[in-house]
Amino acid sequence: MTIDLHAHTTASDGTAAPEDVVRDALAAGVDVLAITDHDSVDGIDPAVAAASGTALVVVPGVELSAEVGTATDVHILGYFIDHRSPALLAELERLRLARLDRARLMVAALAEAGYDLTLDDVLVHARAGAVGRSHVARALTDAGCVESVEHAFRDLIGRDGPFFVRKRLLSGERAVAVIREAGGVAVIAHPGVTRADQVIPSLIAAGMGGIEAYHAEHTRSDRDRYAAMARRLGLVATGGSDHHGPGTRSAALGSGGTPDAAVDSLRTRATIAGP
Ligand code: MN
Ligand code: MN
Repeated sequence: MTIDLHAHTTASDGTAAPEDVVRDALAAGVDVLAITDHDSVDGIDPAVAAASGTALVVVPGVELSAEVGTATDVHILGYFIDHRSPALLAELERLRLARLDRARLMVAALAEAGYDLTLDDVLVHARAGAVGRSHVARALTDAGCVESVEHAFRDLIGRDGPFFVRKRLLSGERAVAVIREAGGVAVIAHPGVTRADQVIPSLIAAGMGGIEAYHAEHTRSDRDRYAAMARRLGLVATGGSDHHGPGTRSAALGSGGTPDAAVDSLRTRATIAGP
């Protein structure tokens, strides 16, 4: 089986609509696909609808940004969440408004510095999705302010750039709790990329159930190390491509090499509330 438990759509910073991600996943021979947009579950229903009548199984998911101590860019995936849970939706709405405020602050600072950019230019790229720095970068590129999205990050809105504005973040414990309260399993995303293993014990204490060992950007030794860690700690080892759609630098759908057992292990751990 080909299992991909990490994919983005236009509900966050992916470039392909949920329906198109499903179509591309089928074409890539994917059997199980999790939709894991940043701070949004809006891609799930359209993806489930597009996959109905096909052999593709869509797992409802999310990817929350969190801070744990001094680590400010810890991503936490949630799987088999009830994406209609009112508590989850309320938390996501707060995050959406915080993202909008952040985009507004970045645009205001850029405009003041002479970059010809409005919030609407940015929101065109985000459409109804969770607005992020990639949308600001695309708007800057479109306006001719920079050569490319990469340049926008490097020179202007990257972590060390003059127009970087921090995102209001959930605590790691809160992110895990939000996912668990929605009946899902919380999994630390791409620890080999984040490089903040010191946060793992506190997340486990908060109820985290897995480690994304098989992320497409992980090296062979990352995979082995985190899979062994998951085994040792009794956690599920998950994985996925972190695909962001055509025109992005992300890995292809279906890459990552997630073991078949990951899906049933997650399902068993999830406690989805009844209808
Ligand atoms: Mn991530
Ligand atoms: Mn991701």
